Amino acid sequence: MLIPMLELAVLGSGSSGNSAVLCLGETRILIDAGLSAKQIGLRLESLEINPDSLSAIVLTHEHGDHTRGIDVFCRKRKLPIYATTHTCKIVSEDVKSDVVWRPFEAGNAFKVEDIKIESFSVPHDAVDPVGFVFHCTRSRVGVLSDVGHVTRMIVDRLRGVDTLFAESNYDEVMLQNDTKRPWATKQRISNRHGHLSNDQTAELVEQIASPALTRVVLGHLSSDCNTSDLACKVIRKRLEERGFDGVVVEYADRKDPLPLRPAARETADSAPQSEAEQTSEIAEEIAANSSRVCEPSAPVAAAEGASKEWKQTEWAF
Ligand SMILES: [Zn+2]
Ligand SMILES: [Zn+2]
Repeated sequence: MLIPMLELAVLGSGSSGNSAVLCLGETRILIDAGLSAKQIGLRLESLEINPDSLSAIVLTHEHGDHTRGIDVFCRKRKLPIYATTHTCKIVSEDVKSDVVWRPFEAGNAFKVEDIKIESFSVPHDAVDPVGFVFHCTRSRVGVLSDVGHVTRMIVDRLRGVDTLFAESNYDEVMLQNDTKRPWATKQRISNRHGHLSNDQTAELVEQIASPALTRVVLGHLSSDCNTSDLACKVIRKRLEERGFDGVVVEYADRKDPLPLRPAARETADSAPQSEAEQTSEIAEEIAANSSRVCEPSAPVAAAEGASKEWKQTEWAF
């Protein structure tokens, strides 16, 4: 029997709301719940995942764009919610539903069924924000959202993952030229407890890249101060410079889910193949099924329009 592999889908990502789902066989974990409960349900169903079949929710931090759907979504579903002790305390003040809080300390590991989850502290303007590495016997997925700067611990924890889902929030030039935001807001976004620029994410990807790295999914893209093509190109270029030409680089956006895809290369039962051949096959398979894979020669698209779907509760964008 083939051992199952982790699969990652992103329901939506951006300052208006963030939520992803990680699956291993019948185990399904919602990573953040920052979309409306209705949208979480609809988007799960669009990916043929029954919203009532989730095993747990894990939270990176308490900001509304990562948590605002919890209360309503959990009214009919008694789900365990894993978050750091401090994050549980804050989020639970706004959650009246009958959820089962599962607090952990940042830096600790825990399991949800067969998925092992390692947490690590990250610098962000929140009470106790964390990133995660999810792993099973065949694959590892790193999740990093809302981070002001890349620390040595972040690099150490994420090095060697098969799939990285990380924010790539803004382009530095577009942010500096932005006329909608006051100087102080720009400072908060770009400071050491704000968000990652495309260049910072590229540097992170360069540092954690290994022959195992198959896929990089970029999230939390600013609608005003970034474009998907720009973000993908910056990260892809850095990977190519390091010889990682075959890594798929794609982006998650705020409105359309990114479908479930295997986190790592298929190696069991496969004929002898070079890593370049295997990566190339995966890239072709994903490219055929996605309009969001960054092709090296793709033209730069216009910036996406700003979403008015949710009121902001976070200063970020
Ligand atoms: Zn956020
Ligand atoms: Zn945040």
